[in-house]
Amino acid sequence: MSIAARSGSAEVSPRTWVRPSEAGTAPGGGMASISLDLDNLWAYMKTHGDAGWESFPTYLDACAEIVLERLRRHGLTITVFVVGQDAALEKNAAALRAFAEAGHEIGNHSFRHEPWLDRYSPQEVDREIATAEEHIERATGARPRGFRGPGFSFSAEVLRVLARRGYLYDASTFPTFLGPLARLYYFWRARGMPEAEREKRGRLFGTFSEGLRPLKPYRWDLAGETLLELPVTTMPFLRVPIHLSYLLYLSGYSTALARAYLRAAVALCKLCRVEPSFLLHPLDFLGGDRVKELSFFPGMHLATEVKLRFFDRVVERLKRHFTPITMAGHAAAVAARGGLPRIAAERHRDASGRTR
Ligand SMILES: [Zn+2]
Repeated sequence: MSIAARSGSAEVSPRTWVRPSEAGTAPGGGMASISLDLDNLWAYMKTHGDAGWESFPTYLDACAEIVLERLRRHGLTITVFVVGQDAALEKNAAALRAFAEAGHEIGNHSFRHEPWLDRYSPQEVDREIATAEEHIERATGARPRGFRGPGFSFSAEVLRVLARRGYLYDASTFPTFLGPLARLYYFWRARGMPEAEREKRGRLFGTFSEGLRPLKPYRWDLAGETLLELPVTTMPFLRVPIHLSYLLYLSGYSTALARAYLRAAVALCKLCRVEPSFLLHPLDFLGGDRVKELSFFPGMHLATEVKLRFFDRVVERLKRHFTPITMAGHAAAVAARGGLPRIAAERHRDASGRTR
């Protein structure tokens, strides 16, 4: 069935987001939240500095059709972080509505998807989050209660705005040591980029110290308010990424290596009692045969079918050890348990990169 054909007006209730997926039968391993950052074609082109992104080219119809079929097949209900700019455009309405109608939690992934969100002024942060929220709610019928910053960028100001707007959780931290390496690789691939654009991306993917952040949920202390943080899970101890794009990247060298790596990640999470928050991206489902414009992106030499079979294997392994759940479900469960550590939010950095 095409996405456009599914245009009912089913009521989307946030309460359905906190139930574990029906398929979750893992004995004793705890839960694993699964989320999809719905980064669109134009967002990759924009970050990469490619011409043509300004007309917001989209692959969301194809993405929704493929991803929703796969999630249904595995009985998964996940969280989909939507970019406000996409929700503002009629051409994406059917695809976004389809995610909400299938019962997935809808989160806020900023309006402009600029990974330098941490450089915005307080007024810009407020406008960015509110505008995204407004368009996402209008397009999907669901009001986001969770946020993930583009490219894992956030600031104390972002956290404060989220707390003030009644968000249940933030999910923008990515505790890995590999951020600076990813940035080097990125600049090497985008060698022709003008200096002003390079400057904006100066802290893209964060610093080495990101790797020192906690893996387990905690509360940001925002001087008077708090906000729950659900970090994107990385490998305990080693702090290397374990999200699906990275596993796919490893599988490009050897599928046996990627599988052993995932087994190690699952074992270490269980050993350290980390209930993983596992991250997906559209390009984990779309191969070079479906998206020709992003050949610069790692893993785009793989065909869609190859990626989908890889997804199946990863999900089967996760389900063997953990009960899949949405981010809101994960947030509600850890909040109910209580006893979370508190961490003071960093002070906001201004546009020049200085802390003030
Ligand atoms: Zn993103």
